Amino acid sequence: MSGKTFNCPKDGTVMSLVYESEKIGNLVKVSLYYKCSTCGYRRDLEKLELQRDEQGVVIKKFTRVSQ
Ligand SMILES: [Zn+2]
Repeated sequence: MSGKTFNCPKDGTVMSLVYESEKIGNLVKVSLYYKCSTCGYRRDLEKLELQRDEQGVVIKKFTRVSQ
């Protein structure tokens, strides 16, 4: 990941990178996105689904959201 920044297309605010994870049983959903603190505009970057089992953590699904 570079130090590249994104500006909000609506108001030009420098968007901050947000890491969010949600745990459902032994499945963990991770979202990585840019968010504007001014208007709440969100731009998805990557989505991951991780599953924990006896062997460790397995990546179930990986989506790179690019435009
Ligand atoms: Zn904005």
